[in-house]
Amino acid sequence: MATTASEQKLLIGGEWIETGDWIDVRSPYSGELVGRVAKAGAAEARRAIDAAEAAMREPLPAHKRAEILVKVAGYLGRRHEEIAQTISAEAGKPLKAARVETSRAMSTFTMAAVEARKLTGEMVPMDASQAGAGKLAFTLRQPIGIVGAISPFNFPLNLVAHKIAPALAAGCAVVLKPASQTPFSALLLAELETEAGLPPGWLNVLVGPASELGDVLIGDERVRAITFTGSGEVGWKLAERAPRKRVKLELGNATPVIVEADADLEDAAQRLAANAFSFAGQSCISVQRIYVQRDAYDELLSQFVPKVEALVVGDPADEATDVGPLIDKDARERVLAWIDEARTAGAEILTGGDLDGELLRPTVIANAGPGLKVSCEEVFGPVCTVTAYDTLDEAIELANGTRYGLQGGIFTGSIKTALVAAQRLEFGGVTVNEAPTFRADQMPYGGVKDSGNTREGPAYAVRELTEDRLVVIELE
Ligand code: NAP
Repeated sequence: MATTASEQKLLIGGEWIETGDWIDVRSPYSGELVGRVAKAGAAEARRAIDAAEAAMREPLPAHKRAEILVKVAGYLGRRHEEIAQTISAEAGKPLKAARVETSRAMSTFTMAAVEARKLTGEMVPMDASQAGAGKLAFTLRQPIGIVGAISPFNFPLNLVAHKIAPALAAGCAVVLKPASQTPFSALLLAELETEAGLPPGWLNVLVGPASELGDVLIGDERVRAITFTGSGEVGWKLAERAPRKRVKLELGNATPVIVEADADLEDAAQRLAANAFSFAGQSCISVQRIYVQRDAYDELLSQFVPKVEALVVGDPADEATDVGPLIDKDARERVLAWIDEARTAGAEILTGGDLDGELLRPTVIANAGPGLKVSCEEVFGPVCTVTAYDTLDEAIELANGTRYGLQGGIFTGSIKTALVAAQRLEFGGVTVNEAPTFRADQMPYGGVKDSGNTREGPAYAVRELTEDRLVVIELE
């Protein structure tokens, strides 16, 4: 067992270790110390890779991997409230959203267990060519090797789950580096893995200076894949530096949604208000840009803005809170500067735009030009824009007017309009009559353009972390 959450060690090769150095983790809401965690450096990173290599010399059979993953899902359920409290404390995530995240992590582990049991290759139709006649061939799905996993602060449990559960399902050992601001949820998950019977070395967790640990993961040839979720700035550089590894990137978005005049406007307003500001907009698919057909613009705003103003801003530990703090002061200052840029350029702040104590109030901006940062970059804060359009063509062009392409959405009463939009919106996923913030953990999830180069969801991630080995048998 690890030590208490307020002083946490690192997991390397099945041992909980101290390094003599510690990293303090503070509440993004109150600044109070949540706890401290042992600080790893390059030496611990190398040790973790050694441990992963040793573990993979004795492969775990699929039934064992599945059994462990199912047990972890159960343990997450058993300790649900404690885990939600940990997420909330370290990330400043409102408790009700932290509870949803915990339940989703259970689902991620459950789905990964299914994939572990299903993992198989395929027959190759050898007599389909003259060259293959008289031979039998099939593929085996082999684990790619050691996986380096790097995760962000905003879903400190479920995005870690999306890294480690599919990797273990695929038969890969993992060296995980969670975000320095939110390491406790990841370490708690590692504790549950150990308790579920995962042998030493299959999961190693390092917390410490990102570039030092990242350099070791990138530089060591034994790490065959990096699975990264975070900012494009960091992710694409990692990919450039490791051309021989599989570097799988899940990055940001500037999430658009189109509201046609024939949509159920009350339903759209409700879903958009909830999904533009949940976790203070710090979700990669937080609703950011709302395009409304001109005939419905006033009606939608009359329903949407009061719902935004009704959101409860406050202490994330409070049961009633909908919107808590941004992760740190720098993030808050950046988002305020982007709002100011829009204001100065003549955009209208319909609500919010200022602080409630230290917290940024949910902000709705009208008439923001397409070149403004709030219109085309990822805000990652409690801010959305609303813009009127005349034709669907115009709306689709506005929605696509970003370098990002993770998820987008449309609200409409017309199946034809929905399908046209689904075909023409350049995103990895398109939601219809649901906010594009929606994600169920088995879905193929990932972006095009600057938003990444992979799909997560256990079935898809397992495919990325395995490779085909061909077996050819001479029959004659
Ligand atoms: P970030 O700054 O890129 O950090 C992500 C992770 O990368 C952290 O663990 C960080 O470590 C690490 N890191 C930073 N520099 C590194 C380096 N040189 N080498 C190796 N690792 C390095 O992103 P963030 O601010 O935590 O997260 C927000 C971003 O993630 C947003 O853009 C959001 O859209 C994106 N995101 C995407 C998805 C998706 O599924 N597509 C989901 C959630 C979030 P430290 O914490 O120690 O700095």
